[in-house]
Amino acid sequence: MARRSHKPDLEAILDDIADRMASESERGKVADYIPELAKANLNRFGIAVVPIGGAPVVAGDADEPFSVQSIVKVFTLTLALERVGSGIWARVGREPSGDPFNSIVQLEYEHGIPRNPFINPGAIVVADIILGKREPQAAIEEFVSLCRRFACDESIGIDADVAASEIATGARNRALAHFMAAEGNLKNPVEDVLELYFNQCAVAMSCRQLAMSARFLASAGRLEGDDDPIITAERARRIVALMVTCGLYDASGEFAFRVGIPAKSGVGGGILGVVPGRASIAAWCPGLDEKGNSLLAARAFEELARATGWSIFGVL
Ligand code: GLN
Repeated sequence: MARRSHKPDLEAILDDIADRMASESERGKVADYIPELAKANLNRFGIAVVPIGGAPVVAGDADEPFSVQSIVKVFTLTLALERVGSGIWARVGREPSGDPFNSIVQLEYEHGIPRNPFINPGAIVVADIILGKREPQAAIEEFVSLCRRFACDESIGIDADVAASEIATGARNRALAHFMAAEGNLKNPVEDVLELYFNQCAVAMSCRQLAMSARFLASAGRLEGDDDPIITAERARRIVALMVTCGLYDASGEFAFRVGIPAKSGVGGGILGVVPGRASIAAWCPGLDEKGNSLLAARAFEELARATGWSIFGVL
């Protein structure tokens, strides 16, 4: 394994990580509560790093699209902040939940105000905000355009089978949404909000596309060459802060301890990471641990952080 240096040899590091992950026999379990995701191949592994101002460096199955699932919550929060600014914080908190991403119990004793925008109920409120007065289909199309703009890639789209699979089986998310509606924290009809939410989760991207799409978070809200920032530097910093505290649900503390890179996971097996001032990163392997985070993508991040010294909690 290459040793830590100020200019890490990313190609060698990523090849080395991909080789090691290919030979791992313990690979976790696919998310079978969304039937379409249960079809994913556990043997896939991809990783991509986009250094600021540089071209993507990739290894393994980095160009194979997968369901980004909860990773999309980073981009939906970005959009909601642009739409309504800090007003969003009256309807969703900013604390880690310490509970699973689809937990119902906390929502009841906190009166329908989700702990943070990265657990399911928080992202459902964010979807309600994004929906505003639009029809779900129009909001879905706008959101896909946004993902394409972030990644500079017009081929990005929604996996309709995954969206349909979750619409057909999403009883738990319906329970969360109805509870929030009862508490007055949803403005639109539950099914309209969920149509947008499920379709957002079903956006398919490869590691390369995901890492590309988070460049603005690694560079203070701005894409190189663009006159207008995607988001203000202050908001970018706050989104990245929430990735540290809430990005891996009730394993966020453990991930900060082991890896130290702000990140967001999804049950499709992807993890998106942001190292401010340095790079954006995506790793993917569909097998999950018991908290719903990709076992090998998390391990890949740990190895990458060790090889590059990119933990935000240390000095290079
Ligand atoms: N669409 C998934 C759900 O709502 C997202 C969960 C996740 O990726 N953690 O259950």
